[in-house]
Amino acid sequence: MPREAPSAMTMLASYNPATGDIVGEVPVTPADQIQAAVDRARAAQPAWAALGLEGRAEILKRAADIFTERADAHAELMTREQGKPLKEARGEARSLGSGLAHEVDEMVEALQPDILESGGHRSTIYHDPLGVVGAITPWNFPMSMPHWMVLPSLMAGNTVVLKPSEETPLCGQAYADVLQDVLPEDVLIVTHGADEQGKALVHSDVDMIAFTGSREVGKHIMREASGTLKRVVLELGGKDPMIVLEDADLKKAAKFAAFNSFRNCGQVCVSTERIFVMDSVADDFEGALTELASALRVGDGMEESDVGPMVNAQQRDHVLAQIDAAVGAGATVLTGGEGHHDNFVTPTVLTGVTEEMDIGTVETFGPVACVTRVSSIDEAVDRANDTHFGLGAVVFGGDTEQTEAVARRLTAGMIGVNRAAGGVPGTPWVGARESGFGFHKSRDGHRQFTQTRVLTRPV
Ligand code: NAD
Repeated sequence: MPREAPSAMTMLASYNPATGDIVGEVPVTPADQIQAAVDRARAAQPAWAALGLEGRAEILKRAADIFTERADAHAELMTREQGKPLKEARGEARSLGSGLAHEVDEMVEALQPDILESGGHRSTIYHDPLGVVGAITPWNFPMSMPHWMVLPSLMAGNTVVLKPSEETPLCGQAYADVLQDVLPEDVLIVTHGADEQGKALVHSDVDMIAFTGSREVGKHIMREASGTLKRVVLELGGKDPMIVLEDADLKKAAKFAAFNSFRNCGQVCVSTERIFVMDSVADDFEGALTELASALRVGDGMEESDVGPMVNAQQRDHVLAQIDAAVGAGATVLTGGEGHHDNFVTPTVLTGVTEEMDIGTVETFGPVACVTRVSSIDEAVDRANDTHFGLGAVVFGGDTEQTEAVARRLTAGMIGVNRAAGGVPGTPWVGARESGFGFHKSRDGHRQFTQTRVLTRPV
């Protein structure tokens, strides 16, 4: 199908959430042209697969230097388009180049065939490409989220049609531009738009949907994909708990809570959203957390700020409404508790939060640390687990054995003891319950982008 001339295209404008200025625009892909993009990706797939693991690895590794060369420009784009402070954006942008060779090597190893022998017969288990993967990604890590879906898809020998978030299309495009510089034509195709384009991609004849985003959209995708039993990997939202035990290093715990509740303005899937602290140490913990939160500088991420804007007015309104409702229902504001200016929300610490409040159960995705005092470890564990979500969780405590025992009772997929939830390189990024379906990273994660096939013969 001939592509439309740019002048005839509808454009998607991308706004700076800190200033309201237009950062740039991209052409919207008409929904009825998504299948044509998938057809092009499908035509390119056999030759890409035929390069073999080593051939694909060699090509993809060439992107590392380009990511590194463009890292500063990418970081500035990220801050202007999504709002996160420049220092956080630099971390995200630099990791793409610095981590790529290692990630690719890990995938090469993970996707080697396995061989089993028994009774004079040998079975070889192959990890073959699925075909075309549709990757649909969110805005909060606007370059690393596409990377987490696109790289394992490509390394497995699939071609990819990527639809980045409509909030951060320029970052999605800039990410894909780097790979497209090294990849053969149509191995990675970018489409732009919002839910209409996402739905069209799910309805197309892609073989797999690799999705990162909200639980609600994840459920919708799973329902829609069931018609043709498309493979899905869904990385969804969370309401991560943190438990602070009596013998915890309270300064360390408060520092972690401040970092992990306010990083990226709280717009992180594994943000600390619920803090259960033992009564006996609650005053000290709340005092330390409040001091740290009130010292944070709010402002445009291009300036020396610690907390940037929320991604848009809708997200800001959602957070402020949750805070207001919680205060109306009896929660106490220790610091913040209101909007700052425009899309900015003052870093907020609430105490006395309960599960009867929206903010106690529904993902906030904003700069709010919610404290609930508990009188026993059992109460902390029961309340931490009282959620449909199950992405990350953390426990802070002094006695290693006891702290680990508490951690083992939590129902999240990734649990950190005296540290963040995510594991060391090589471990899966995995959500339990309604925080995910399938997972990625790690040997088993990389294999989810493949079709397993077994060939058996006499030895
Ligand atoms: P979202 O679900 O609103 O949108 C994500 C993507 O899906 C966007 O590209 C959007 O255009 C597209 N989309 C929307 N409706 C669709 C539909 N019906 N069919 C197909 N595609 C559709 O999420 P968001 O607001 O962009 O991101 C924030 C959410 O992502 C939070 O819930 C956060 O916790 C989650 N998240 C999870 C992880 C993880 O690793 N588990 C990582 C980052 C973000």
